[in-house]
Amino acid sequence: MTENVPFLDLSAQQAEIIDEVLPKWREQFRSAAFMGGPEIAGFEQEYAAYLGVNCVVGVSNGTDALELAYRAVGVGPGDEVIMPANTFIATAEAASRIGAVPVFVDVEDEYLLIDPDAVAAAVTERTRAIVPVHLFGQTAPVELLAPIAERYGIPIIEDAAQSQGAASAAGRAGSLGRVAATSFYPGKNLGAAGDGGAVMTDDPELARTVRDMAAHGSATKYVHHRVGFNARLDAVQATVLRAKLRRLDAWNSSRQEAAAWYGQILSGIEGVRLPSVRPGNSDVWHLYVIRVEERDRVLAELTADGIGAGIHYPTPVHLTEAYAHLGYQRGQFPVAEAAADRILSLPMFPHLLEEQQERVAAALSTAMSRALVPVA
Ligand SMILES: *Cc1c(COP(=O)(O)O)cnc(C)c1O
Repeated sequence: MTENVPFLDLSAQQAEIIDEVLPKWREQFRSAAFMGGPEIAGFEQEYAAYLGVNCVVGVSNGTDALELAYRAVGVGPGDEVIMPANTFIATAEAASRIGAVPVFVDVEDEYLLIDPDAVAAAVTERTRAIVPVHLFGQTAPVELLAPIAERYGIPIIEDAAQSQGAASAAGRAGSLGRVAATSFYPGKNLGAAGDGGAVMTDDPELARTVRDMAAHGSATKYVHHRVGFNARLDAVQATVLRAKLRRLDAWNSSRQEAAAWYGQILSGIEGVRLPSVRPGNSDVWHLYVIRVEERDRVLAELTADGIGAGIHYPTPVHLTEAYAHLGYQRGQFPVAEAAADRILSLPMFPHLLEEQQERVAAALSTAMSRALVPVA
């Protein structure tokens, strides 16, 4: 009887940090110091140093981080925010919550990241932000968007929720735009023990705006100089994030080794398109995404075989029911749409074992050998 391979197993991560975290949690419980305090400030400073940015503001989750970043650069009702069609829906929701309009564009085929030519074609007088998403642990080509952003005076806001530690030649994902947002949802490369997020920027003024907005429009207790909301990070989460940040590079290296091993053991399987790394980039493999024909059948067979696999994401955002009101049609973004029918995320986490990967390869090989459509 062979063992099942989970899609994601974070238990080994918690085991590594528990002795460091529990005494601090005990002290927080004793003093009831849950909001504010040295753990949050410490994490913000350490994450800023790690990314090479001036300011990090810890917030409640990645979606709030995006909304705060959009608002901080002045995105308002009716403004357009350009973003890729294949992202997690939160990138769009954060714009919609402001009353702004997500404007979707297609991605390029090789890396499934935002297509700079498509962005250039989508700019209008109402465009107020361009949002590259560093999907799957990659770094989107922000330097190719920069000339467009400069020409029209539109800020670049990075969605760095899937890319903690990733880098391109230009620097770390999350340090490349005017402002960036990230998520510390437990399953991200840097994950909390619940919800968390952050906004990153070099601009202290912008950081201050975000911090105030996330705390009821107030820098001083009960002095409210704008209408804000509540989107703070708490000390319980910051404690976990500090402990995990110290291990992030090691865990990302493990993911890179696992990705290299997949590259070797999957390369002989006919009909499987492996992910590639843009030259000069260091990807951190939040997800390991292959492309196959008959994806749903292959996924069903892997699942039946005890292999955890997923689809990120089955429906490009422009075709979701939630965004039907924007009137997009199937066929508008052929690359994102074709990818959505073929992408398959294989098990990937820092403590994934080589033997587990070999189980995945064997199951995938069996599933692919049953292909109904002959592969070219
Ligand atoms: C996870 C994620 C978010 C949202 O983060 P939450 O913390 O779940 O709100 C936004 N964008 C992308 C690309 C994500 O993967």
